[in-house]
Amino acid sequence: MLKIEKDHSLIKYTTLKISSQADYFAVIKNKSELLEAIKFAKDNQQAIFVLGGGSNVLLTNRIKGLLIKNEIKGIQVVKKNKDTILVEASSGEIWSKFVSYTVENKLYGLENLFLIYGTVGAAPVQNIGAYGVELKDYFYQLQAIDFKSGKEKTFSITDCRFGYRDSIFKNKFKGKYFIYSVTLKLLSKPNFKLNYGSIGAALINKGIKKPTAIDVIKTIEEIRNSKLPNPFVLPNAGSFFKNPEVNLQIFKKLLQQYPDMPSFPVSRTKVKIPAGWLIEQVGLKGKKFGPVRMYEKQALILVNEGGASAKQVLNLVAKVKLAVKKKFGLDLSEEVNII
Ligand SMILES: Cc1cc2nc3c(=O)[nH]c(=O)nc-3n(C[C@H](O)[C@H](O)[C@H](O)COP(=O)(O)OP(=O)(O)OC[C@H]3O[C@@H](n4cnc5c(N)ncnc54)[C@H](O)[C@@H]3O)c2cc1C
Repeated sequence: MLKIEKDHSLIKYTTLKISSQADYFAVIKNKSELLEAIKFAKDNQQAIFVLGGGSNVLLTNRIKGLLIKNEIKGIQVVKKNKDTILVEASSGEIWSKFVSYTVENKLYGLENLFLIYGTVGAAPVQNIGAYGVELKDYFYQLQAIDFKSGKEKTFSITDCRFGYRDSIFKNKFKGKYFIYSVTLKLLSKPNFKLNYGSIGAALINKGIKKPTAIDVIKTIEEIRNSKLPNPFVLPNAGSFFKNPEVNLQIFKKLLQQYPDMPSFPVSRTKVKIPAGWLIEQVGLKGKKFGPVRMYEKQALILVNEGGASAKQVLNLVAKVKLAVKKKFGLDLSEEVNII
């Protein structure tokens, strides 16, 4: 029988390590435990919250309801074609372990997404992305369970409405479904994307001209470890803000005032401006506010030296947003899920 605990502390379940509590808490390891948890919530009129690795959330309040910590595991190859392979992973699998599995089994495509923290089930929620690759590039479908009806539903790539760090699960269906498994369409031959960031240059520096998938993920690991704080050493939730997308006309005006302003093309009419650069320009990179600060090596990451409260985090978030708005007229929006 599923163990449901009352008044459970959540501090160790999120990488930002902010103190919080859940009215009810359960760790689930298979479908029958999930259905039991859903039934408990229904019978006791409790809302349900899902947590994977807790690497993209800020808990600001007590969770009034049942918090499900997802540990459902399993990976299987569903179908093999000549050029593509469908692989289904249960949502409680650790994302990086899953990427390692694909590399070991010569299934290609996910290399650039190596070392993103958290679980497979959270990956479609914000359409995880890194170094020019997004989950949607290899997404096939996902299975989810509706909290209200308990019924299973298949979501295609169109149903998920993926965007930049965005999907229907952050909007219309926020908190409505439990993502049970994710199926990806991977390649039987390598098609590495090495022209983004410093991956290509790092491989050449190492004298590697024809990289294997292992070379690529090792290089990604080295680059990430040199830039990003390890959340298990210095608590953080990765990029706190999204890079704002602006239309070209506005960008051209900004460039007249700030000729050094960096950008990445998004479409013929839009560019993305690195939020980390904006935060640095307003003087908030590395500046301490009690136990919290925007990280000195990557200003987009909010770090907690230890003991920070949700209020201290939210105060810094508000300061950053206000300063960027005042100087550049741009609105930053949070990438992290604030619950
Ligand atoms: C150091 C660091 C670097 C990072 N780098 C990147 C990066 O390069 N690119 C990137 O995209 N992200 C990055 N992230 C953010 C984070 O790793 C990803 O967003 C990841 O997918 C979150 O997974 P999680 O299991 O920890 O999700 P959680 O934080 O547990 O949950 C995130 C959201 O998804 C929901 N959710 C989780 N599981 C399910 C489920 N099974 N069904 C329904 N809803 C669910 C939760 O309710 C919550 O709203 C980084 C984080 C850190 C700490």
